[in-house]
Amino acid sequence: SQPEIHYRRILLKLSGEALMGDGDYGISPEVIGRLAKEIRDVSRAGVEVGLVIGGGNIFRGAGLADAGMDRVTGDHMGMLATVMNALAMQDALERLGVFARVMSAIRINEVCEDYIRRRAVRHLEKGRVVIFAAGTGNPFFTTDSAASLRAIEVGAEVLLKATKVDGVYTADPLKDPKATRYEHLSYDRVLNDKLNVMDATAIVMCRDNNLPLRVFDVFEPGNLMKILRGGTEIGTLVD
Ligand code: UDP
Repeated sequence: SQPEIHYRRILLKLSGEALMGDGDYGISPEVIGRLAKEIRDVSRAGVEVGLVIGGGNIFRGAGLADAGMDRVTGDHMGMLATVMNALAMQDALERLGVFARVMSAIRINEVCEDYIRRRAVRHLEKGRVVIFAAGTGNPFFTTDSAASLRAIEVGAEVLLKATKVDGVYTADPLKDPKATRYEHLSYDRVLNDKLNVMDATAIVMCRDNNLPLRVFDVFEPGNLMKILRGGTEIGTLVD
């Protein structure tokens, strides 16, 4: 028999880039379909799933500002990019028979629901996947910060940060063959050593609210489910 599931409610953070696949822009239908299947499996197993999706595959405010655009306008574009990604994920989940709701921090009522915390919790309780879009709704923040904020607001037991590598390494494993993976790190170690996990705002939010964080490779099939079944050997735990 399978090991028991350790979590009732999780918050999964996917970067926009995770949706691109091998492309350098936009959304790969194949990749988003694969991710949706991993999410379907854990949702069917009874885990309540909140999702935060980034927008870096379309626009990033900082990048637009480097090219001369007003930063706040650029961040608005970045947040709207996350709404597009969220709609694509909602569609991919619905095609697999999973009920999903996009809730946006910026009001776009013709397109999706507003983020209202109590409604979000209700959706989760009913087994619907909630996709939190538009980040925090404020410029100068990131979707990593949105992920830690929403996770804390809805009472998720863990924040799972999906990456292309299986955790946090002592050096870039693609460049340094001697790089090793940390199994466990403290929030303060991540902050002090400026380890590339999430931005500092997000880490501080997790630390101050005792929200554990696991960084893992979402593209390894079954990894997400393994973590929920207590697989401590996967990725890096920060707590
Ligand atoms: N953004 C923002 N406020 C937020 C979240 C995101 O202004 O609370 C903007 C910001 O410009 C950011 C972009 O949306 O660059 C896309 O989000 P992010 O860079 O976090 O996406 P990811 O790197 O996860 O794909």
